[in-house]
Amino acid sequence: MINEVYTADIEVKLRSGEAMFLLRMFRKERANGRPATIGMLNSDVMKSYGANLVVLEQTGEDDFTFLYAGTRVPDDLGKPISAKTTTAIDADTATLYRLGCSEAAELGDAVCVSHLSGPVNLVHRWECLFLPMEDSAHRRMFVALCMPREYKDDFLRHLMDASPEAMVAAIPVRDSHGEVVDSTVVYANRQAAELSGHADINALVGTSMMRMFGDVATAGGWDRNLTVMRSGKAANFEFHHRSQTESRWLRVSSIPIKDGLLASFSDITEQKRAQLELEHQKKMLMDEMEQRRGLEQELWALAHLDPLTALPNRRAFRDAAMVKLAESQTAHRPLALISLDIDHFKHVNDAYGHGAGDTVLRRLADVLKAPLRPNTDMAARTGGEEFAVILPDTDLESAMAFAEKLRRRIEQTVVVVGEHEIRPTISLGVAMNRKSANLDELMDRSDRALYTAKRTGRNKVCTEVEVQPKPGESPNQAA
Ligand code: GH3
Ligand code: MG
Ligand code: MG
Repeated sequence: MINEVYTADIEVKLRSGEAMFLLRMFRKERANGRPATIGMLNSDVMKSYGANLVVLEQTGEDDFTFLYAGTRVPDDLGKPISAKTTTAIDADTATLYRLGCSEAAELGDAVCVSHLSGPVNLVHRWECLFLPMEDSAHRRMFVALCMPREYKDDFLRHLMDASPEAMVAAIPVRDSHGEVVDSTVVYANRQAAELSGHADINALVGTSMMRMFGDVATAGGWDRNLTVMRSGKAANFEFHHRSQTESRWLRVSSIPIKDGLLASFSDITEQKRAQLELEHQKKMLMDEMEQRRGLEQELWALAHLDPLTALPNRRAFRDAAMVKLAESQTAHRPLALISLDIDHFKHVNDAYGHGAGDTVLRRLADVLKAPLRPNTDMAARTGGEEFAVILPDTDLESAMAFAEKLRRRIEQTVVVVGEHEIRPTISLGVAMNRKSANLDELMDRSDRALYTAKRTGRNKVCTEVEVQPKPGESPNQAA
């Protein structure tokens, strides 16, 4: 309940013609120098304005008695006020009359009060003109003319029309079993009519809510409104409306009211498009990053791996071996290096072709890799058909045993190429790290041991100091 009092320029502020007319009459009466009397309210006046008129007299310190009240001016609760006092009626209404009368008494002139009434009254805003007057016995009285300025319905309509959201109120349509199968639009605002492509609100009211955007079959989630009516539970959802001519997104908030609903919705197509575009861009970026990662991996592999066998190449081997060697020197731990070379490999190429040679190289790499300790040992292709294996924390005895194992495994390997069976063998040289050793020197020693193995019969393992016997030979016989 709000009261706004206007005491100045009320001629400009009054909105109702009735109040203007009565005010002019009041001013004319007073122009004669006499106070205005209630005699001014003759039968013509009463006939036209009586239903909206109130006559009051002050009967207590802050109390007024309604000597007369028209039928159209009940209190805010809708009850009649005639013959009652302000203490006996609804408090909010009493405040209006007390305020109007005391302001008019103090000013000795007309005042206007704009009154917002309570929730039950159909009138939302009243315009009340208060006039201080006298009766023929010079008793002071107050005449109030209360005209409705705005009705609740209009107020709600304005409220809905002012909303940026499209709004639709709907009631359920039930089948013979009482099941909600559709809903009828009973009220909508301008935005709803515009958004759903109707000429005006009237064209939308009365239609099926399920069909307000056209074909229900393509309406997708719009039937969630039915669920709101069935369950009595509010729902917020996004709704993709597609038809042959358009595609758009709506954000919907649907709340149950009695057994119907009030749905408000706004077009979020632009946001949605931007969002989808963003997601698309993000995906493209991720793809590009993925591609780049793949490319980086490829580049890394190109620089570090031998493409034929996927073993580390000579450079990668040297880098890693140098670190391993330095670590073993610092920790005073043994480290073994094995150099190996395929025996008579030229013959393989010559007899079976270069492709067959490649197959042998790949098989050899697989055999080499198998027994390695992960993250510790490392095998590499250091040249055409030359390989190396570095074994940290390994003494000469273990390294020799390991080399012998490799030799045997290769010896037992049969590479089938077409109709041919190739049985390769390898020669191996083992060298151990020494206090002052650097990698070149270590590789040089293992190469020399390998050379000894070649020179003394092939398919065997040699170290720098001794030459392992070829199967069937006695030790160092070949050296
Ligand atoms: P040896 O027992 O003394 O080692 O005799 P060998 O025939 O193996 O002699 P050598 O080690 O000098 O021969 C190397 C051959 O390896 C020569 C070359 O044609 C071949 N080769 C080098 N790289 C590749 C390769 O990538 N693929 C194939 N198929 N052959 C290769
Ligand atoms: Mg060679
Ligand atoms: Mg060779």
